[in-house]
Amino acid sequence: MIVSLPYKILIDKNTKGKVADTLENLNFGKNCAIICTEHVQNICSTISSEVSSAFEVEMSEPATIEINHLKEMAKDVKAVDFIVGIGGGKSMDAAKYLAFLAQKPWVAIPTILSHDGVVSSRAIIDDGQGNWMSVTAQEPAAIIADLEVIKNAGYKYIASGMGDLLSNFSAVEDWKLADKAGKENYHEMMGKLSLISAEAVTKHIDDLKKKDYHALEVLFWSLVSSGFAMNIYGSSRPCSGSEHNISHMLDKLGSKALHGNQVALTSIISSYLQKGDWQKTKSNLEKAGLPVTAKELGVEDIIVEALVSAKNVRDRYTILNEVNVTKKKAEEVLKETGIIP
Ligand SMILES: [Zn+2]
Repeated sequence: MIVSLPYKILIDKNTKGKVADTLENLNFGKNCAIICTEHVQNICSTISSEVSSAFEVEMSEPATIEINHLKEMAKDVKAVDFIVGIGGGKSMDAAKYLAFLAQKPWVAIPTILSHDGVVSSRAIIDDGQGNWMSVTAQEPAAIIADLEVIKNAGYKYIASGMGDLLSNFSAVEDWKLADKAGKENYHEMMGKLSLISAEAVTKHIDDLKKKDYHALEVLFWSLVSSGFAMNIYGSSRPCSGSEHNISHMLDKLGSKALHGNQVALTSIISSYLQKGDWQKTKSNLEKAGLPVTAKELGVEDIIVEALVSAKNVRDRYTILNEVNVTKKKAEEVLKETGIIP
């Protein structure tokens, strides 16, 4: 088994004057392609101009993250030594997939911390027919996190990042169930790493609301550690159980909610089905200002269907394999937890 992890991480309140040095120390070469949107370029102009002053830079904005478009872009990227992805979801997914196609190392400069996918080698892209698909890509060789930039992004992204971590509790519980059922061995080490990440942000909810620097650091390391747990284990299992099944189903049915908000809410359902302390899950979400009802999440029309069909969304043993969730049962659970009236 080969495990790939980023080998350099720079995290600072303000990375000004440190970005070019960090990149130079990686010894990737002199030519780089920066993948970012115009919007992000405006926010992060100091970072990109610092990179431009030290390297031969080609700026690229992916028009879409549709597979064929990215394959076209990869032909140009082949000429550079490395790739820098600056931004949120779209630029990160584009950069990690381009790096994989062009076989070049890439550096992630996340401007938001909304989910645990930064370290991951999987990218979410458009399959050309308007459907999202998860593809094998490449994990970043290095990560540069500027807390000032992350702080200035909206609180909703911080809350979403917290939400993705809070969902680790039910994910680990599902993993233990799979172990008990003889389906998949539970790894104490990766399981604990996932739980520690969730516990750390739980302790810092109030400080994260204030966008306190120390708390943002905790959020960053918790997301990275969750990513490590998944990369070491070789699948998303440590941080993705039945709550992610339901969330994937919501995506398929057209939900536009942020991933972290979605899995946080569905972890209330998972925790309820697992006979866990779902009230505690719910109160943590309320404390963080995350949605706790289907209406707040904007999924009131599809939540019942998503829950009923969540078991078959992928091959992963969870509580959904042990409880027969009929339409009647789904409505009962959702009412009981206050997710629907
Ligand atoms: Zn997730």
